[in-house]
Amino acid sequence: MSVKISGVKGMNDVLPAQVGRWHELEAVAREVFALYGYREVRTPVVEPHALFARGVGEATDIVSKEMYVFEDKGEDRLALRPEGTAGTVRAFIEHGAYVEGPQKWFYMGPMFRRERPQKGRYRQFHQIGCEAFGVAEPAIDAEQIAMLDDYLSRLGVKATLKLNSVGDPACRPAYLDLLRGYLSAHAAALCGDCRERTQKNPLRVLDCKVPTCQPVLERAPRLAEHLCQGCRDHFEAVQAGLGALGVAFTVEPRLVRGLDYYVRTAYEFTSDALGAQSAVAGGGRYDGLVETLGGPPTPGIGFALGAERLTLILEAMGRPVPAARPEVFLISADAPGAVAVLGLAATLRRAGVACDLDARGGKFARQIRQAERVGARFALVLGGQELAAGEAKLRDMATRAETPVKLADLAAVLSKGR
Ligand code: ATP
Ligand code: MG
Repeated sequence: MSVKISGVKGMNDVLPAQVGRWHELEAVAREVFALYGYREVRTPVVEPHALFARGVGEATDIVSKEMYVFEDKGEDRLALRPEGTAGTVRAFIEHGAYVEGPQKWFYMGPMFRRERPQKGRYRQFHQIGCEAFGVAEPAIDAEQIAMLDDYLSRLGVKATLKLNSVGDPACRPAYLDLLRGYLSAHAAALCGDCRERTQKNPLRVLDCKVPTCQPVLERAPRLAEHLCQGCRDHFEAVQAGLGALGVAFTVEPRLVRGLDYYVRTAYEFTSDALGAQSAVAGGGRYDGLVETLGGPPTPGIGFALGAERLTLILEAMGRPVPAARPEVFLISADAPGAVAVLGLAATLRRAGVACDLDARGGKFARQIRQAERVGARFALVLGGQELAAGEAKLRDMATRAETPVKLADLAAVLSKGR
């Protein structure tokens, strides 16, 4: 008996008709990031559970609720990576990359979070992320944010940049006490999640989207007003840097990052095209993270952008999916033709001309329909007659115009046309 098995909920297939969109996102990322000196790193999708517990933070939703955790034959506690920074930092430390001075790395690949699937929110999703290690100065913050802005504009995506400072260990603890006090005093007007987070992760409360919480949160003490001198100077320098680079932004006092390791700069790009899941990319500075994970004190700043959300934006913009299509489709007219198309296809492909044929052979009408389906630019019919003459007609699939062409010249003619 046959059994039909469906894919896992919240984990998507990207079919060939859509994959051109992904190639575009990835190719533009590789191109733009290289212009800024970022180099690609590839790390495993599975890491020790402890890496995320320590690096992302036990109190975060990601670690406490959303992670896929499993025992590897009862020996090790492992997790599917929910984000890319912790693994990248682990690799950075493990391979001693810090001895080479400042490093700029990027990654792209699948991440896993057991969230409630909805539009723009999946259980396997893809991030493209960048990390700059070894520079504490605000110039790198501005450069990185400008790079992300550059990337989005190259794709033609309009997104709004929101910027904030989340302070550092010098000024944040006192602010957190103040915030906890304020939130506790207004607990009655807050949702259950907010009340629960008030003690463990009060910054995250500021991020709550529940409408009834908003009046209290709007009047909450603002971190930007309680920054130490160092954080204030840094924040101002980042803003000045962005100004000089011509990157527009708005300061968003309630913007926080969900992860514990962030300090100072926090930023986010959002898009109206996305509805509720409006965040396209989020980033921030994590100066303590490398040390937390056992490396030497090394400042860092990074971002991750959601590739699915980018594809949704491009789709909403009505942008066609870039598609690879064959230059020519070879149609066989008879038995000698059916043998000859294979040889001709091989010659064309060796010359770098993309071509296709219907390996089923058979009726002309069916073969030409297949040529249309695959979007071939030209079709060429080959049979005993054409082989004897050494010449065939090249049919332009769009205009239906036919031009005679010598079979021996076909590769040259088609590769010139490209
Ligand atoms: P959100 O507030 O939307 O849950 P987040 O703060 O959890 O986002 P990050 O951990 O900063 O997101 O991840 C960076 C980016 O990855 C997000 O801006 C978003 O574009 C994308 N992303 C995060 N979670 C998902 C998901 N479950 N499905 C698809 N994309 C996601
Ligand atoms: Mg989330």
